[in-house]
Amino acid sequence: MRIGIIGAGQLGRMLALAGYPLALQFRFLDSAADSPGGRVAPIVSGAFDDPRSLARLAADVDLVTYEFENVPVAALERVAAKRPVWPPVDALRVSQDRLLEKTLFESLGIPTPPFRAVDSLAQLEAAARELGLPCVLKTRRLGYDGKGQFVLRRRADVGHAWEALGGVALILEGFVRFEREASIVAVRSTRGETRFYPVVDNEHRDGILHRTLAPLRGGARLQRLAERHTTKLLGHFGYAGVLTIEFFVVEGRLVANEMAPRVHNSGHWTIEGAATSQFENHLRAVLGLPLGATDPLGHAGMINFIGRMPDRDAVLALPGTHFHDYGKAPRPGRKLGHATVVARTASARDALLRRIEKLAPRG
Ligand code: AMP
Repeated sequence: MRIGIIGAGQLGRMLALAGYPLALQFRFLDSAADSPGGRVAPIVSGAFDDPRSLARLAADVDLVTYEFENVPVAALERVAAKRPVWPPVDALRVSQDRLLEKTLFESLGIPTPPFRAVDSLAQLEAAARELGLPCVLKTRRLGYDGKGQFVLRRRADVGHAWEALGGVALILEGFVRFEREASIVAVRSTRGETRFYPVVDNEHRDGILHRTLAPLRGGARLQRLAERHTTKLLGHFGYAGVLTIEFFVVEGRLVANEMAPRVHNSGHWTIEGAATSQFENHLRAVLGLPLGATDPLGHAGMINFIGRMPDRDAVLALPGTHFHDYGKAPRPGRKLGHATVVARTASARDALLRRIEKLAPRG
């Protein structure tokens, strides 16, 4: 069985590494020949939106999945006419557009920040009056890791925000004064079997995930809520694969920010910190195999290395610590690797994470 993965980044690489023990083979599609996935499986070289490259990938594999959300839906639909594609193309379509995403959350009864579509300065002025300040203007499409966002704090910011982002379709959201950010990684197989990982606590810096703590402290009630919300989305899409939802935690409630129809950075801890990793479970799910247990093996924490890698040997010298280097060229703001710790107690984990942070200067 050979699986095609659109995108050969670190997520694709971790998928392939999880699939080899299951006797699976892989082909990536990526325009960059030196992408992380290239070290573990052949890359079909080509653009994500090039029909010929996609057709070449499809011809060479039994099933297609993706690790990257900006694959054009029309191109993926052509692939889906030839080979099974999971997660469903419709989930990708919704995840690509913050307005569709929040509209769907609302229609399914999943709480989300108040929002308005914005296509003109006049609409922005009206929406800012309705939602009140502060509020957040975002591009509807192609935003990730906090890119394409502008926080409006004063009336005068309306003009600045429009200058910064105007000209493409936008969404204005109410600013959520959250206590923390959390996410849930869920997995559903083509046979409908569903499992959930524990809700985790995420800290972002400059809009990029900095660290994840798993499980979220005192999260039993939030776990039930998150599972209820996620179950609605999984059912709506007839989903197969891993689905991640990112939430704001506000006064014991969950407010959904966005969904990702793929394996997710906030699930990296599952490689060493859960009975089955999100990557293995994604593959089991899209192949209709029995899913693996999602129980945590202790208190896990994950730290991303952004822009610069720390000294590997110094990180490995810390007990219970695992090191992942994606082999990417350093660049400011780029995710280059991560470390995961698994400890018996939350305080032991937190102490280890502080020591890793000291070894990991931000670049
Ligand atoms: P996003 O690209 O939507 O994931 O946003 C990146 C980060 O910006 C989030 O992780 C939050 O920290 C922050 N953020 C996004 N939307 C809002 C909002 N409506 N209110 C407050 N903070 C937000």
